[in-house]
Amino acid sequence: MVVQKYFLHFSAVRKKSYDMALSLIMGGAFVEQVCLSKWTAIHEAAKVGCPAIMMLLLQHGAKVTARGKHGVTPLGIAAEYGNTEALDILIEHGGDVNAQASNGDSVLYDASGSGNLDCVKLLLQHGANPNVASYACQLPIHRAAYEGHILALRTLIPITAKRAIRLAGHSPVHSAADGGQVECLKLLLQKGYDVNTLLHMHISENYGDLRKTALYFAVSNGDLTCAEMLLEAGARTELDPLRCILVAIRAERYELVQLLLSYGADVNCYFRVISNTVFPTALQYCLRDPEMLRLLLNRGYRAYKCFQCCHGDSEETDSTWIDIHNQAYHIYCQPDVVSFCEFVSVSWLEHLVGSVVRLLLDYVNHVNICHNLRRLLEKTPEWDELSDILSRPRPLQHFCRLVIRGHMSLRVLNDPKAMAAVPFPPTLKNYLTYRV
Ligand SMILES: [Zn+2]
Repeated sequence: MVVQKYFLHFSAVRKKSYDMALSLIMGGAFVEQVCLSKWTAIHEAAKVGCPAIMMLLLQHGAKVTARGKHGVTPLGIAAEYGNTEALDILIEHGGDVNAQASNGDSVLYDASGSGNLDCVKLLLQHGANPNVASYACQLPIHRAAYEGHILALRTLIPITAKRAIRLAGHSPVHSAADGGQVECLKLLLQKGYDVNTLLHMHISENYGDLRKTALYFAVSNGDLTCAEMLLEAGARTELDPLRCILVAIRAERYELVQLLLSYGADVNCYFRVISNTVFPTALQYCLRDPEMLRLLLNRGYRAYKCFQCCHGDSEETDSTWIDIHNQAYHIYCQPDVVSFCEFVSVSWLEHLVGSVVRLLLDYVNHVNICHNLRRLLEKTPEWDELSDILSRPRPLQHFCRLVIRGHMSLRVLNDPKAMAAVPFPPTLKNYLTYRV
């Protein structure tokens, strides 16, 4: 009967009852009996970590080489659960410290996951190889960094070969950033790991966004602390196919956006895989978020790009940009290049056009709008105000604001402390920074 068959596993070993285990074995229980997950009693003993039962089983024929459902050995189980004594006994009885489970996970990899430093050291003392990667290209050092086991990581750093890490296709810096492990990240950077190492293509392809950098992991996790640490250490913001700044904007993470911009992320970058637009991509991700849009515009987003298209009644009158417009004209008139008026003409975005254009107008000189955009705007509640702005010359005050902003650096304009030192009246400062 099943219950009787597995009695040794579940009743005696799991409950750490030596007497019961002894009675069952003396009564003829089969120590090599496997349960449904192909565990034998010694796997169970390795998990619960009872040395006396472990010894009893070994004395009665249990094998240290027994493999569970996923090819895992009792050593792997003892290491995974951080049971040093059990691991020690298994090693003393001939257990292979370099055994790998069916997925390639080594015993040391399992120990690194538990974070038990004694287990890690014990395995290393008995010849465990820290440079054996799992079939998912994970080394023990990656696991320790991801899980945040700083002591194990500290032990593994000097003995893990750079070549093994290179072959794995990703750095422990990626792992620490992905796991949000600030202390591990700090240690790795202190030890000289490159903050800008890129995921190898075979790892990158596991992610739909084809990410490359450790910074991308931190940003996509919304992890401000790790992101800041990476940026301080020199992480570059432009190395991923989808820029980190766009990920942060899309996730509505204002602090991350500001952090990335303060470290030089390009607010006017493009991601053309999905939509090849005339205007910088960031706008696509914050059409519903006026606060984010304002933030980006204050940080130098090129608003005039939203009024460039090749439709009628779109004579470019923003004089500053006429030349650029003319140069770019042949580009954005290509059929596969999407202008702002086309992008927002879909039914699920139409209702946002009025408020977005109203904000954009704060950052451009006089513009004429094309008939497509006009038709969209006429249906919005903002049309009366927009029509008024568009039909008359812009006020001199507004022109002056753009000119003065053009003579100041974005860094100063967006830094309250720096702005406090600027010798302008407070009202003017507020006007320049769109606070009024
Ligand atoms: Zn147009």
